[in-house]
Amino acid sequence: MPEMKKLMVVFPHPDDESFACGGTLAKCKAEGKETCYLCITSGCKGRSGPFEIDCREKLARHREQELTKAAEVLGIKRLDLFRYADGSLQHADLAELTAKIREAIVEWKPDVVITFPPDGVTGHPDHIVTCKATTLAVEQAEAQLAADEYPDLYYVSIPHYYDHCPDSGPQPAVPITGKVDITDYRTQKGEALRAHQSQVYSVNRAYPGVIDGDFTVIGCYEYYTLVRSAGKPIEPLRAPKGIPVMEL
Ligand SMILES: [Zn+2]
Repeated sequence: MPEMKKLMVVFPHPDDESFACGGTLAKCKAEGKETCYLCITSGCKGRSGPFEIDCREKLARHREQELTKAAEVLGIKRLDLFRYADGSLQHADLAELTAKIREAIVEWKPDVVITFPPDGVTGHPDHIVTCKATTLAVEQAEAQLAADEYPDLYYVSIPHYYDHCPDSGPQPAVPITGKVDITDYRTQKGEALRAHQSQVYSVNRAYPGVIDGDFTVIGCYEYYTLVRSAGKPIEPLRAPKGIPVMEL
């Protein structure tokens, strides 16, 4: 398999990148790979945490600033903000969103694309729509790319979320097929999460202590499922002897 040089992640909210694959993004940067984040909304419906922000537009700009800071910490080379309204993706034009993602894939030519799984990890409708649009976009991009440019598509899983969040989160929708060792990048993941200060409630819930600079709760792995490669869907199988460590 040729070495991965360019990684694109597609998520709907500023902070999804840090929660889901902050360590992987920082690791890629350290290994000389290029990373890109397509962020679909600006998170204007999120909480504003300690900040008194009563205007959606102001909150969106504030969260974009936090995201820019997190992207710097993680060494994200290209940050694209699509600026859809937060919480609106169910009602957005799926074909149009898919086309935007497809155009970015065809133009940037990532070796690997990562997005949420069909259940969105948390069940958030924006997460679910982002999975749908990104999966379609990868399939459609293949028509415009040479066969050796087809990206591999992975869904991210956050078993930590299922373990730690007390609400009845869904069980993982697809079996996890590999984990990336982020032991050396836990600090960057923690600092990126901390950059999302307005999301103190979510960060505290999933990663207690991190906002205060204690990163011990951050695990040493991030988890993925390969669902498409070389232009074909892959039926993910549960690993019989535990989840293998992998490189993307
Ligand atoms: Zn999200």
